[in-house]
Amino acid sequence: MKLFIKQCNSCQNRINLSIEAKSRQTLRYMYGETITIKCPTCGNIHNYYPYQVYAESTAKAVVGGGLTGGLVGLLGGPIGFLIGAGIGGAIGNENDKIDRKNVEKFNSSW
Ligand SMILES: [Zn+2]
Repeated sequence: MKLFIKQCNSCQNRINLSIEAKSRQTLRYMYGETITIKCPTCGNIHNYYPYQVYAESTAKAVVGGGLTGGLVGLLGGPIGFLIGAGIGGAIGNENDKIDRKNVEKFNSSW
């Protein structure tokens, strides 16, 4: 999971944050009501509220896992490919689920 601000107040570009927090409450607890952030695109410094911060999933496990499994399965022909992709996908899926849950939790927090 990674955090970002949808739009810079000056240039409207997205700002990726290197900070980590489980929820917006945590952000408030860590930084107070506003977070001062310098936009890497335009260099302007603005204060942002925790509700302007969003989370997105960084899990690429499903694609990676499915692909790895698929390649392994490919040795066994087209059916092996499908089975392999399914197994690899299932393994990656668990991590992905957790990550997506965390993202949901963050984005529904206040
Ligand atoms: Zn900017």
